[in-house]
Amino acid sequence: MISITIKNLITDYPDFPKEGIIFKDISPIFQNPEAFKEVVKSMANMPILKKADAIIAIDARGFILGSAISFFLTKPMIFARKPGKLPGDLISKSYNLEYGSNSLYLQKNALKKFESFAIVDDLLATGGTAKCVFEILKDLNKKIEGLSVLIELKELNGRANLKIPVDSLITF
Ligand code: AMP
Repeated sequence: MISITIKNLITDYPDFPKEGIIFKDISPIFQNPEAFKEVVKSMANMPILKKADAIIAIDARGFILGSAISFFLTKPMIFARKPGKLPGDLISKSYNLEYGSNSLYLQKNALKKFESFAIVDDLLATGGTAKCVFEILKDLNKKIEGLSVLIELKELNGRANLKIPVDSLITF
């Protein structure tokens, strides 16, 4: 069970990055190493993460959590990056966000090495971002164990939209 402190550290910024969005800022967790440790240990315990051969961490806050979890579990990690950042032979898809649209790119050679994957991100809102990675994996006939997130925004129904297992630590 996650402590109340972690939830209290998450700070709301209304109307950021655009009107109508309540941005959940997780930065204060990283300024509190004990809280960060608790988050990493709790996420590393999630069944989805335990089952997967490798972690796919989503640009950019997913990288922070994903790399700490990868270190903790001694599991490989692959980057799902925004456009123009990754070299080599890439696979990509576009997706819609709670605030705008974007694309994610993954290295084909990295994906070839493993069979089952857990996606790691900071927050599940509409599910569009994780679905983008899920669809890339589906096209490659790879197994997806599910999505592990720190925060789930329940009212946006991301879980229903995604149709893959979701483990979340904190819900709002
Ligand atoms: P979605 O694709 O709608 O599930 O959105 C999830 C992605 O967008 C995550 O990578 C989050 O970092 C980011 N995101 C979406 N909504 C918020 C929010 N209200 N506060 C912070 N980050 C958000």
